[in-house]
Amino acid sequence: MESTGKPHAVCIPFPSQGHINPMLKLATLLHRKGFHITFVHTQYNRTRLLESQGDVSLPDFQIAAISDGLPPPPDDGNAATQDIRSLCLSTQVNCLEPLNELIDGLNHRSSCVVPPVSCVVYDMIMSFALDAAERIGVPGVVLQTAGACSFMCNKYLTHLVEKGFVPLKDKSCMTNGYLETQIDWIPGVIPLKLGELTHTIQTTDPNDPLLNFVITQFARSSKAAAIIINSFDALEQNALSSLSSICPPIYTVGPLHLFLDQPPKNPTAKSMTISSLWKEDTTCLKWLDSKPERSVIYVNFGSIAVPTPQQMSELAWGLAGSEENFLWVVRPDLLRRENPAALPPEFREETGERGFVSGWGPQEEVLRHPAVGGFLTHCGWNSVVEGVSAGVPMICWPFFADQRINCRYVCDEWRVGVEMNRDVERDEVGVLVRELMGRERGGALRRRAEEWREKAAAAAAAAVGGDGGGGSSWLKLERLVHEVLIV
Ligand code: UDP
Repeated sequence: MESTGKPHAVCIPFPSQGHINPMLKLATLLHRKGFHITFVHTQYNRTRLLESQGDVSLPDFQIAAISDGLPPPPDDGNAATQDIRSLCLSTQVNCLEPLNELIDGLNHRSSCVVPPVSCVVYDMIMSFALDAAERIGVPGVVLQTAGACSFMCNKYLTHLVEKGFVPLKDKSCMTNGYLETQIDWIPGVIPLKLGELTHTIQTTDPNDPLLNFVITQFARSSKAAAIIINSFDALEQNALSSLSSICPPIYTVGPLHLFLDQPPKNPTAKSMTISSLWKEDTTCLKWLDSKPERSVIYVNFGSIAVPTPQQMSELAWGLAGSEENFLWVVRPDLLRRENPAALPPEFREETGERGFVSGWGPQEEVLRHPAVGGFLTHCGWNSVVEGVSAGVPMICWPFFADQRINCRYVCDEWRVGVEMNRDVERDEVGVLVRELMGRERGGALRRRAEEWREKAAAAAAAAVGGDGGGGSSWLKLERLVHEVLIV
């Protein structure tokens, strides 16, 4: 049967929430531009999505699933993010074959409904997908779901190894101040401490599988047809210009979520844009409606970070002591896995109507809500970009991966946030929250956050009519489609 002549993108995210979200947004944008999409989850996440969202797909936006080689989710509905190290190591050895089979199946069935696969868009740390693209002779394009600054740091891991900084000589380096060493020679990146770079460097094993995994994935990005980054030019100018001299063509198309501010009217198309692996609890939006403008601090640590019971308790009493309104998202797996006493009944009594503890929520909508005036975040890249786009100042409490790099940029480069001590203490939480929500320090941060909000919006602004214009990211998205994805 004749094919439709439409381009067909196979999109394969790394299987965790912070990677799925931007890939789904990119896929939705390509779909709106006329692409047929096959979106590839792992069976583990597909099962979770069926539970949280139901079974949604459109004739030209299909969901597929392949095995990640790890055990399936528990069947009691209590699934959480899988161990990231296991996922990294397992996907690279177990996913290529099923992906090839999936692509072969799509191509054999190609018809007037399903056109042949014409490009593969894959997550930076799913580089096996490049082999799948090369095997059928179509462009393989990377999506970097974190920032250009952390991309550059990861690219330079090999230099850290060559210069003898990594792996660490022995375990004492973890505590003797060695991790404080300034690294100020990564091109385009602000000076950072060694310990602020990805946590994968914190190993003494020269053959550490995760360290080698990260080095290999970032090295392989040089072979991609192009690299897409969920960032925008004004935000990371220096890192982007340094990257551009050592990488394939880079397309900064962020903040991706700003392109999708207008949800589609068709309910199926609308639910296709929601990728929450937990069922969303939207009751917090009603509670926010009852609060004055910019009076609420929103607290959320993303999909992976697991604070200790002690940290949860200090945070809880810090929020209580701040006397500010707060909305705190506590993932269901945190309450189950950890000490239930982390959120004692007295805490809820003490804070009453002033606080709202919610399950997994609609973060983008929350950040855009007029009642939200601050964001206490773990600095995952999506959260940072969403916070910047909403013009909300931040308290940064980074855990791992790129989060400490992002924290430095939020606090020192864009100056829209303040850092919280890693060993969180209730008094410090109280002071920081009051300052952030207050006029003096908070006011200055808020003014800069507003400037960044405007720059983010300008980057994603569409050209009006046919007379040019359009923001940097809007233009890059157009160019990505016509220069790389439709060949
Ligand atoms: N998110 C959400 N609801 C929540 C918490 C997070 O929708 O209650 C979304 C958030 O908007 C972001 C993603 O989950 O897009 C988390 O990604 P991020 O990079 O911030 O952190 P990670 O989960 O990867 O650590």
